[in-house]
Amino acid sequence: MRNEPWLLKPQKTKEILQRYGIRMQKKFGQNFLIDAHVPEKIVAAADITGTDFVIEIGPGIGTLTQYLCQAAGSVAAIEIDRHLLPVLEETLADWDNVEVISGDVMKLNLAALIEEKTAALAAALQTGAAVSVKVVANLPYYITTPILMKLLEEELPIDSITVMIQKEVADRMQAAPGTAAYGALSLAVQYYAEPKLAAIVPPNCFVPRPNVDSAVIHLAQRAPAERIRVQDSGKMFAIIKAAFAQRRKTLVNALRNAAELRKPDGTSYTREEAEQALTACGFPLTIRGEALGLQEFANLSDVL
Ligand code: SAM
Repeated sequence: MRNEPWLLKPQKTKEILQRYGIRMQKKFGQNFLIDAHVPEKIVAAADITGTDFVIEIGPGIGTLTQYLCQAAGSVAAIEIDRHLLPVLEETLADWDNVEVISGDVMKLNLAALIEEKTAALAAALQTGAAVSVKVVANLPYYITTPILMKLLEEELPIDSITVMIQKEVADRMQAAPGTAAYGALSLAVQYYAEPKLAAIVPPNCFVPRPNVDSAVIHLAQRAPAERIRVQDSGKMFAIIKAAFAQRRKTLVNALRNAAELRKPDGTSYTREEAEQALTACGFPLTIRGEALGLQEFANLSDVL
């Protein structure tokens, strides 16, 4: 039987913050949760069970972490702010299935961490049950996209990512072609994962209050065989980057001007080459990148 989370009783959170003299660090994107319904929603959206190894990015004072420890087989909580380590020692003392890792998630070898922790959990379970890896976090908003792209692009054996982010970023991740929110982030996320909005969270659920609404988004990773087929995904993403870096331009002009898009011989694509590729895909020559879906970018990448 696991211990119950206790930190989210408002007087307890306040007392801890005061006792440790914690000042919220804006540079680390610190907005701490103070509403108990939110961790419950996050844990439900992540569908955490005793056979899961959970990576939490930025435990803060351990609010969400307590809920994760209660539900998961094991938890690794990565925190950059060293001032919070003594707090976490106290707030997580009731659980023996959590390790706090002091450091910057962007610099950590997550593949090695996952390998070590999944092997340890599998051995501890002694049931032969498969261990799943889930990332769960109330992410620091200043670095949301780099963190998510690291998790997705490193091809880590992660089953799902359930994170609180700015609602506007969640909208971009789920956006469809032709909408204002659609862009390179939508395509990158949708290539690697299936995004699903789990909850919208207002500013009053945090201290300090952020200026914007937040959202919990669940990203179910696609196995490589379930992704859109494309010969060279790196080239496809260079095309996507070019298309949205110059969003107002036609795709032909974006492709031939793109600094990041080169032929194997190092030269840029010519207007004629760009037009030929569009025609081969059946696209009008006046089309803009924002009209193309992931499959269409993959087709274009394969013929260019
Ligand atoms: N999980 C806590 C909660 O929900 O109350 C805190 C969430 S707060 C939005 C983000 C947390 O991420 C902070 O504790 C912050 O110090 C930490 N953080 C910021 N940048 C980080 C990084 N690069 N690596 C690890 N943790 C980071």
